[in-house]
Amino acid sequence: MPAATSLTPILLSPPDVGPAERAALLRAFDSGWLAPLGPEVDAFEAEVAAATGRRHAVALSSGTAALHLALLDLGVGPGDEVVAPTFTFAASVNPIRYCGATPLLVDAEPDTWGLDPALLADLLDERARAGRLPRAIVAVDLYGNVCDHRRLTDVAARYDIPIVEDAAEALGATAADGRPAGSLGAAALVSFNGNKIITTSGGGMLVTDDDLVAERARNRASQARLPVAHYEHVEIGYNYRLSNLLAAVGRAQLAGLDAKVARRRAIGERYRAALGDLPGVSFGPHDRIGRGNGWLSVVLLDPATGTTPERLRLALQRAGIEARPVWKPMHRQPVHAFCAAVLNGTSDDAFARGLCLPSGSSLTDAQVERVVDAIRDHLDDRAGSGR
Ligand SMILES: *Cc1c(COP(=O)(O)O)cnc(C)c1O
Repeated sequence: MPAATSLTPILLSPPDVGPAERAALLRAFDSGWLAPLGPEVDAFEAEVAAATGRRHAVALSSGTAALHLALLDLGVGPGDEVVAPTFTFAASVNPIRYCGATPLLVDAEPDTWGLDPALLADLLDERARAGRLPRAIVAVDLYGNVCDHRRLTDVAARYDIPIVEDAAEALGATAADGRPAGSLGAAALVSFNGNKIITTSGGGMLVTDDDLVAERARNRASQARLPVAHYEHVEIGYNYRLSNLLAAVGRAQLAGLDAKVARRRAIGERYRAALGDLPGVSFGPHDRIGRGNGWLSVVLLDPATGTTPERLRLALQRAGIEARPVWKPMHRQPVHAFCAAVLNGTSDDAFARGLCLPSGSSLTDAQVERVVDAIRDHLDDRAGSGR
């Protein structure tokens, strides 16, 4: 690869791949295992199960597919309600709609940006009195910070409602008790999309401790065909499995996970050290519970800065730097506007003040300094302009 120059665009979270991934891909190709499944898939599943502290992992075409299969397995269907975070990416909520169920949106707690256990408790009490409990709860580990596993487990257990952990952004993070992201609830999902902490260019996994959950997910992901020669089908299936070639790339990526986590965390620390003392500037949650993987660093701008996240985003864009607004809350998305939402202001505040900064593990120190300098320049301009 050519050396980065001061003109090379800096992307938010580009894939961090190299010779090891290339060699793995060619090894899988040369082995002849091109018919989707194969030994790389089996090995990748075992390795991700270990990384998430689970007995089983099922390799799939995306994290979205994993959540869809987890919800189907819990019997989610038309007429059901499913609790979902409002502060998240659309993929945490869309699979609820695929099942014909209705999302019940719940805001985040300020400390972790994960699903707020206190709001959840109030909602479940109210739903229990009305005699209509949600079928399942989706909890998210936002921006690589684990949600409050312990309190969410306690609240859900009171009404015996299963949790699915959306750990798509959090592989490599740990909860307060030291257990890994992906270890919460009946099942969890991780994602290997191109912008995640590791990538297969597209892919995901469902992880679980339950033999039957894993078996049924594998079956549904392969068109739900029963093991007879003529392929008997008694239910609707999907084509959701991951290719053996991509699993090989994923294994090479996973071998470098610790280094990628360390690099992203160091980038976040550099942003906080260089910018955290400026008036009106702060950062999103990190390490308030457990230890995050540093997936994306989020800067928060108060009016005292004289600027807004959008103005900063455009200034960075002019400097060849990609930044992105934080997830627009689901209760503000036209497609989910009809859903009930229990709000506490956290997601709206984060959306008003937050901007995700370049955080990819392949960023060089010089590139991180370019981002720091560009942010400082913009904030100096705004302060000097008398607002
Ligand atoms: C990326 C992401 C997903 C979906 O994963 P894909 O592999 O892209 O389908 C789900 N939830 C969250 C929070 C994500 O960021």
